[in-house]
Amino acid sequence: MIFEVKNGSFSYVDENKNQVLRDINYRVKEGEILAILGRNGVGKTTLLRASMGMLAWKSGGSFLNGEAIRGMNRSDLWKKIAYVPQAKNSFGNFLVEDMVLFGRSAYLKPWQQPGRIDRELVEDALEQVGILHLKKRMWNKLSGGEQQMVLIARALAGTPQIIILDEPESNLDFKNQLIILQMIQKLAHEKNLCCIFNTHYPTHALQYADKGLLLSNDGSSMFGECETVITKEKLEKIFEVKVEIHEVEAEGKRYLEVLPIEIIK
Ligand code: ADP
Repeated sequence: MIFEVKNGSFSYVDENKNQVLRDINYRVKEGEILAILGRNGVGKTTLLRASMGMLAWKSGGSFLNGEAIRGMNRSDLWKKIAYVPQAKNSFGNFLVEDMVLFGRSAYLKPWQQPGRIDRELVEDALEQVGILHLKKRMWNKLSGGEQQMVLIARALAGTPQIIILDEPESNLDFKNQLIILQMIQKLAHEKNLCCIFNTHYPTHALQYADKGLLLSNDGSSMFGECETVITKEKLEKIFEVKVEIHEVEAEGKRYLEVLPIEIIK
């Protein structure tokens, strides 16, 4: 499975003015993780939404195995792609198992009640992310980390090939960040899903992603192997912050850590 964006450009209003995204290109396949980075307001969420067809590209397009997703039947598309929005959004007061059941929507007709298979897939998804014990809890009463896991379980209940996550580790403590990032890694490298996520942490991108995409303020982007895209020079240019990238060895593994030093005037 190959998911691509080719020459994607997008603006919310006039096509030529205020272009948020300009000539975006990227390509990911099953088993790969793509991290998208850029400053606040640069268009990361817009890029995710346009990539999966929730916003229509003004030019260019998204392609799944070479087929333009623009022309695809919506419910077929939502069987293949799952979106995990930011957990800070309010979803109302639902039981966790019902939240996760929403992940089966693409498989149900508007009047159709979920069946045994749907409920089994909900249990499987809750088990996969390790929160089966939360299934009778209310969504609103969960911690940020637990809510994020529920949203990932909801995505998995739809048995997607591609999972797209908007800042999945933002607003979480150290441990919960690790839980979420390791879950993404497991989904890609063990379950062979394609995972695309926005992040504010270059270190996370370098540690977990295979591919990287840096969004510039003018809407253009750089895409490639993570370590060739997320470099000191490029980060300094995009974020206008002086950075140092350190190599750290721990538990026999090599890590790259990005340290912001000072604002470039
Ligand atoms: P990021 O995720 O990188 O913080 P966004 O994709 O949310 O950035 O937003 C990119 C730009 O588009 C911002 O300038 C934002 O104000 C603008 N924007 C976002 N959503 C809308 C919208 N629905 N209508 C008009 N402008 C929008």
